[in-house]
Amino acid sequence: MTATDPRRRIPRTDHLLALVRRVQQEARDGLIAPEDVESAVLAAASARATTLRPVLNATGVVVHTNLGRAPLSDAAVAALVAASRYVDVELDLATGSRSQRGVQARAALRAACPAAEDVLVVNNGAAALVLATTALAAGREVIVSRGELVEIGAGFRLPDLIASTGARLREVGTTNRTHLRDYVDAIGPDTGCILKIHPSNFRVEGFTSEVSVAELRTAAGGLPIVADLGSGLLRPDPALSDEPDATAALDAGADLVVASGDKLLGGPQAGLLLGTTAIIERLATHPLARAVRVDKLTLAALEATLAGPPAPVPQALHADPAILQARTRRIADELGLPVAAHDGRVGGGGAPGVPLPGWAIRLPETAAAALRTGDPAVLPRVHDGACLVDLRCVPESDDHRLLAALRRAVGTQ
Ligand SMILES: *Cc1c(COP(=O)(O)O)cnc(C)c1O
Repeated sequence: MTATDPRRRIPRTDHLLALVRRVQQEARDGLIAPEDVESAVLAAASARATTLRPVLNATGVVVHTNLGRAPLSDAAVAALVAASRYVDVELDLATGSRSQRGVQARAALRAACPAAEDVLVVNNGAAALVLATTALAAGREVIVSRGELVEIGAGFRLPDLIASTGARLREVGTTNRTHLRDYVDAIGPDTGCILKIHPSNFRVEGFTSEVSVAELRTAAGGLPIVADLGSGLLRPDPALSDEPDATAALDAGADLVVASGDKLLGGPQAGLLLGTTAIIERLATHPLARAVRVDKLTLAALEATLAGPPAPVPQALHADPAILQARTRRIADELGLPVAAHDGRVGGGGAPGVPLPGWAIRLPETAAAALRTGDPAVLPRVHDGACLVDLRCVPESDDHRLLAALRRAVGTQ
């Protein structure tokens, strides 16, 4: 066949089989009725609804920004599909009258973090931060340490984001050291709030000091303290001991915590705001709240993530090392490839420098391109002149697909 031969467009057998298997699984999960399986296969085959391609994440990086951060749990996917129809997102079915949007997801979030008096969900973490600084400090000052002026990726800088709200940044301290007196000296009649940003994607080591939320509380008086945690841990995780969590920040005296839904929480893209009743009320009734309103799909997926069994992100973070090693060996042995110790990462701007010890199958570096462009697409880690395949973030149910993809990639070398 030449490159232009139209027969090249005939879908590959494994591609078609994957489609049949997916529909069968959806039927097993109760998403479609057993008698609808055939028509669902035909519908799926005729409509390639999106050009986004599913990727097996073999990098060992759990929250991989370029792969869309957190993969959703089966429960969240099912909730999302159900919510794509008409749902009671703003309706009380008992009375037939209008209800508060997303009460179900908000209740689930409050239940998961009882330290918060009230909560609000918006589109993403950046939107949550913009809403908070606009409502609390537009036209006034936001006091923030110079050690916390973070660029979060793709050139986006939190100080620029805050300045865009009309709040003025009042920088205090230095890159490596900020003291309580720096904050105290800056507090004045123009202060709107004090912002504490978790520098989630880098670490300053050596001669450093920062001021904790608890210390800030002693000096802030009635001024609101906002803690931007980034990661979205609601409670402490022993595996990530340095990672701040919403419960601890609120218990230490923060009035408001800002976090993402699709980082360590493992849910859909969302901005979580957890805080006092008074501040959440201020944010919820601000006109900007409507512009960053979250959609019903996100609310459904978030509620299911919070209420359901552990999502893929926490599962991958706490993967059993013995099982990971056994899976890695099984696939490597099938192909006669070596296995090496390999540290995974939390990723997504969380827990920088914290290794997640595991293993990787070692291939020649040139195998990486074949893996990326194969079907299924596999993203390995290219490092030290090798192509490393780490199974931490590959669901065990996909091991046979990964093996097939590796076999093809090795065969094309
Ligand atoms: C990731 C992050 C944000 C932005 O959150 P998004 O959900 O990506 O919009 C803000 N602040 C910190 C500290 C972060 O780590």
